[in-house]
Amino acid sequence: MSTLPYLKFAGPVITDEMADAVRDTMVSGWLTSGPQVSAFEAALSNYHGGRPTRVFTSATAAMEVAFEVCGIGPGDEVITSAMTFFSVGNMIEKVGATTVFVDCDLITRNINLDQVERAITPRTKAIVPTHMSGLPCEMDRLYAIAKKHGLRVIEDAALAIGSSWQGKRIGAFGDIATFSFHPNKNMTTIEGGAAVFANPDEAKRAEVLRFHGITRLADGTRDVTVAGGKFNMSDVSARLGLGQLAMLDTWNAHRQSLAHTYMTLLGPIADEFGIVLPAPAHTNEPTGHSWNMYCVLLPFEKPWQAQLTRKQFIAALHAQGIGIGISYEAMHLTSLFRGKGHREGEHPMAERIAQQTVTLPLHAAMTETEVARVVKSLISFLAKA
Ligand SMILES: *Cc1c(COP(=O)(O)O)cnc(C)c1O
Repeated sequence: MSTLPYLKFAGPVITDEMADAVRDTMVSGWLTSGPQVSAFEAALSNYHGGRPTRVFTSATAAMEVAFEVCGIGPGDEVITSAMTFFSVGNMIEKVGATTVFVDCDLITRNINLDQVERAITPRTKAIVPTHMSGLPCEMDRLYAIAKKHGLRVIEDAALAIGSSWQGKRIGAFGDIATFSFHPNKNMTTIEGGAAVFANPDEAKRAEVLRFHGITRLADGTRDVTVAGGKFNMSDVSARLGLGQLAMLDTWNAHRQSLAHTYMTLLGPIADEFGIVLPAPAHTNEPTGHSWNMYCVLLPFEKPWQAQLTRKQFIAALHAQGIGIGISYEAMHLTSLFRGKGHREGEHPMAERIAQQTVTLPLHAAMTETEVARVVKSLISFLAKA
């Protein structure tokens, strides 16, 4: 067992000042959505070039509401990557649409746009690309495809707050982008999410859909115009979000520097050990990557012929006080989608990533020395395997 402090693979930074501000909100007499939510939405909007922004209880909720705002439902097809978090497929199915999976690129892990083009049918309504680990998809080409075919784009930007494409922030251009404030993301509201819209009317409809479908009448009573959900953020969460957003760019710069250190240490030995490194930030734009995660592929064989399994690797690093994550499983191979007829072999890149990926520790409180410690443990494990 290591005597060094346990190194989590992800996690938030909450300063005393942020905790004090949250406490002030908790005793202010207003706990649920109120002035702090309005202030947080204004700050997020400002961060994204003044675009209309609404906050929710999660990115999953934000995405469900965005689908409803776009009128996505039964009979519609929605194209997404087999390599993303479960919430994307779940929400497509939940609103009654059909999930059409395409594969991803092995290195960027982002949706394969050639395959997106081939998957478009007259029933296609939207594309939902995930900016994996915070690396933006090829935005010019993505939006050219969407425009050509009249499709909506709901960007899963859960990992990409602060990322940019050619100098423009993700969320500050394009159609709709949804963000997550789960504790493992680049900023947190404990649980929470946001949607940034291009169209102010759609933002207003999202506001109604997130709170029971209620509209207020002139006589002071309420009406329900649509069967809305209950996805409004509390003021307590929003107050934390305000403090976090103020630190986001500083934290993202630190994440970039840690990722750079991983690259520098692992780059020269990656081939020798069969490690596949993630794509660096777009080379013309080193600051465009939020680096929510640093995921590498390790040469794990299929478990039944295992010399080296991922489970053994995770246990070995855990014993040395290092936490390792897995992001993500291949979505088309969940029981949900197997039940709809999906099978192994459909999306080879997503399936390989699902088998081989490990998420190395990377978060705003980490040090360069800790990156070196992770790399040392990783190499000593692979050298013994
Ligand atoms: C975390 C995550 C989500 C969901 O975010 P929640 O706020 O937990 O709902 C969606 N997509 C991706 C890629 C994520 O990593």
